[in-house]
Amino acid sequence: MLSVDNVSAGYDAVNVLHDVSITANPGELTVILGANGAGKSTLFRTISGLLRARSGSITYEGTQLHRLKANKVVRCGIAQCPEGRHLFPKMSVEKNLRLGSYPHRDKQKTERILGEVFELFPILKEKAGQPAGSLSGGQQQMVAIGRALVSDPSLLILDEPSMGLAPIVVDQVLAAVAQINDNGIGVLLSEQNARAALSIAHRGYVLSEGRVVLSGDAADLLVNPEVQAAYLGL
Ligand code: ATP
Repeated sequence: MLSVDNVSAGYDAVNVLHDVSITANPGELTVILGANGAGKSTLFRTISGLLRARSGSITYEGTQLHRLKANKVVRCGIAQCPEGRHLFPKMSVEKNLRLGSYPHRDKQKTERILGEVFELFPILKEKAGQPAGSLSGGQQQMVAIGRALVSDPSLLILDEPSMGLAPIVVDQVLAAVAQINDNGIGVLLSEQNARAALSIAHRGYVLSEGRVVLSGDAADLLVNPEVQAAYLGL
């Protein structure tokens, strides 16, 4: 289980997260909702060790993460797929995917997961030899998710994977996220498409100005009047 307890974090003089507490149960899909600037990416960066918590604690399966650097956090089984993808555009799709193997450098494991990624996203198998930068936005997002999977995580953090994608592609990406979770990998997801995200999630949290303002089962949040008014356009 991932447990974030009373975490504050920010940049220079600005505190962005204020005493944030969330839990993500093993194998569950947990969604973080919130407007632009609410602090979702900052929360994810703090969990994955790219940003240091100023106070509070973060533990994952008994290990204290808030003292670890990002390269150690990834070895605890947490892979982050950042907003903006960060692919190497001139490198082939397959090479980008293989980069995900650096935390374990286990050849057999890499081949097995690569096969699973190609099953999940058959288009990536077709385009394996092409430069990643030549793919469409949705396909590049698939590469970014696939690269994170190749590190063999037990928890996959996805920061707005559907950002900037056409609605039909958003559906494909979120269906793949649901499939990944069905395969037993825990997912921590931030999403602007609140309805679609809540409909595949087990639990959810709403962040506003760096604070958790609502939390609960995803099914309850879907019918919560505050969530409906703020995020579902009802
Ligand atoms: P978005 O959906 O727009 O990415 P978000 O909920 O992920 O929103 P964050 O990216 O965590 O929000 O940003 C929260 C606040 O932190 C914002 O006010 C933002 O301007 C600020 N911020 C983010 N990154 C930095 C940075 N590197 N330096 C300074 N301030 C930052």
